Amino acid sequence: MITKTRYLDFLDCPKNAWLSLHKPELAHLFELSEFAQGLTEQGNVIESLARKRFPQGVLIQGIAEKALAATAYHLAAQTPVIFQAAFQVDQFFIRVDILEYDKKKQCWNLYEVKATNSVTENSKQNDHIEDVIFQKIIIESSGVDLGRVSVLHLNKFYVLRGQIDVDNLFHIQDVTDQAEERFIETAEMMQYAQKTLEQKDENSINCACIYKGRNSHCATFVYSHQDVPEYAIHDIARIGASKKKLAELVDKKIFDLKDVPLDFKLSEIQRLQLESHVSGHTFIDKPAIKNQLDQLIYPLYYLDYESFASAVPLFQGFSPYNQIPFQFSLHVQDSIDAQIVHYEYLHTKHVDPSLYIIAKLEQFIGSVGSIIVWSKSFEQGVHKNLWQRHPEHQEFLENLNARMYDLAEIFTKQLYVHPDFKGKTSIKKVLPALVPTASYATLGIQAGDVASQSWYTMMYGSLSHDEQLKIIQDLAEYCQQDTYAMYAILMKLYEEISS
Ligand code: SF4
Repeated sequence: MITKTRYLDFLDCPKNAWLSLHKPELAHLFELSEFAQGLTEQGNVIESLARKRFPQGVLIQGIAEKALAATAYHLAAQTPVIFQAAFQVDQFFIRVDILEYDKKKQCWNLYEVKATNSVTENSKQNDHIEDVIFQKIIIESSGVDLGRVSVLHLNKFYVLRGQIDVDNLFHIQDVTDQAEERFIETAEMMQYAQKTLEQKDENSINCACIYKGRNSHCATFVYSHQDVPEYAIHDIARIGASKKKLAELVDKKIFDLKDVPLDFKLSEIQRLQLESHVSGHTFIDKPAIKNQLDQLIYPLYYLDYESFASAVPLFQGFSPYNQIPFQFSLHVQDSIDAQIVHYEYLHTKHVDPSLYIIAKLEQFIGSVGSIIVWSKSFEQGVHKNLWQRHPEHQEFLENLNARMYDLAEIFTKQLYVHPDFKGKTSIKKVLPALVPTASYATLGIQAGDVASQSWYTMMYGSLSHDEQLKIIQDLAEYCQQDTYAMYAILMKLYEEISS
């Protein structure tokens, strides 16, 4: 069966959709991350809330034949609103979020519920209208008269005041005209998808990512290209933007970085990465790094936040997907030779953490000294959101932003290139390369998106007390590691430039 999800997967990548259908042994490569599962759960919550806008709705229970029979019954009975109506035409099978009967026009209006802030926020190539047209074609082919078709998505301007107001939380965008315009195109694409997915020979569908940089690759790339090393030409910094260069190497079957000809045209950044890998040497621009570090003013405050973006606002004054900062770690260093002192805050109350966070920052951070962060746009954004909700603290938070120093820039500007970075400049790559005794590998939580989801599960999931305590401990260790890592990296840089 080609469901809506499979069709959309096909539009994203035919090869990947084919592999997920025909290669069950690759199932582990398609497993959803904890973060992706969290997004799915948020989507389910949004769908339940959307149904509240249609109090007369009847939910079609069961699957397959049972759902098809129940749908046929309610269509015939002209039930005012049907949730999860089932339709099947040939190989295509769908469940429709909401169908509403228009008595006057004697037809059905369709609503596709999306946990996004607009109609266009979807996968790389497709908007949600494609999703709606797919359903329209199948419903109309079943002999059902369809009227207006709409996407019901979150209203990004909604601000929670009091109880959730489902009428204002959502925005209904009528996409009937666009669906008409693209109808034939989508019908043709559905036929093409069916034909392609039915093929038995996997070699008839190419994995096009051989001509794209690593960021475009999905987990099955390693299966489709077993001749490409784990660290390859696809990992050259920004090679995805230089399509011609990558194509030239691929067409010559040059995948290993060591095989790239010396005279092959690369940018300075790309050349440094390559030379570092081939020679095994670390390149350090000591004068430029010294110039950067001379800007720092002690005491230094190494600061890092963790946050959660909830589709449904959890607290007063929040809009859909506003970041909720729930934790910070702060290491303070009074002078270059001083020991660091650690402070932290992890929010475990079921109220807005904003004022708790601000109060702790005001308690721990003095009026002088550089604030060291890794990729400052995130931390600066957290502060901006905080002062927009609490303007009385704007001066303090703006001052923190003005004093911020982004340590990641030493690495993104290639002032320090280590062969173990392998073209990446995340703190998780940089730390073990510069300070081999420190790493994230032993931590219970090892990534920001897992931290984010874990906090939400700890706060709102049905966990035992011991499970909650374990997450609290893991979160504390993870966030602390980020600020300790910045301290350890900075000390290593001082050591390097003075040697
Ligand atoms: S690596 Fe790219 S082209 Fe290949 S299957 Fe994955 S997404 Fe598709």
